[in-house]
Amino acid sequence: MFREILDIIYPVRCPLCGDIAVPKGNKSCPSCKAGLPYIQEPSCMKCSKPLEQEEKEYCGDCERKAYHFDRGYAVWAYNDTMKRSIANFKYHGRKEYAAFYIEEVAARYSDRIKRMKPDAIVPVPVHRSKYLERGYNQADILARGIGKMAGVPVISDLLLRNKKTMPQKELSDIERLKNLMGAFLWNEAAARRHGRELVRLLLVDDIYTTGSTIEACTNILKSRGVSEVYFIVLCIGRGF
Ligand SMILES: [Zn+2]
Ligand SMILES: [Zn+2]
Repeated sequence: MFREILDIIYPVRCPLCGDIAVPKGNKSCPSCKAGLPYIQEPSCMKCSKPLEQEEKEYCGDCERKAYHFDRGYAVWAYNDTMKRSIANFKYHGRKEYAAFYIEEVAARYSDRIKRMKPDAIVPVPVHRSKYLERGYNQADILARGIGKMAGVPVISDLLLRNKKTMPQKELSDIERLKNLMGAFLWNEAAARRHGRELVRLLLVDDIYTTGSTIEACTNILKSRGVSEVYFIVLCIGRGF
């Protein structure tokens, strides 16, 4: 009864089209979901970007750059529908979209996470000023949901964002790296609070484009003795 009243007051909005009409028990319209670009083979063996040619193992980015993360996974390729969905999740307060995203991560990667055995899940942090502006860190919401689903502890503040960076999309590769150098800090207090050794970590973020953010985070973690760094993101750019 209570549940039914809640459904009437707060009907589930489809995170993909924004419509309220979602069939009972679903987190999105089945037709919207069916149109999403799920990551399929062939995909990059390192970052999971979709590949154009079957015979290639790695995407152009992973071939050119020696990224330090061990392996990364994405649920979807970035397209206009996901771009709009994530923008609403990130900037327009649609925190409830996380339930759909986490269900999709679970459906594809819960076994993978079990085999990975991460000691903890760590969200890519946002700068404090952005946090105050939006009221939440979208990556942290995802990390907590994935942690709960997989039974892995989440250390939300193991990495801190040190300085405000320029929007990445306007920068070249080299500028991006420079922009991000020193952007993240290791929070020793959070590591101590966790108390156990951190050998394998799983980074969580919403989007992976050139990989420079994940790379910057990985470098900090590995410089502090973490030996394996993995990532899971919702969307990844195409890597032709
Ligand atoms: Zn829809
Ligand atoms: Zn790749």
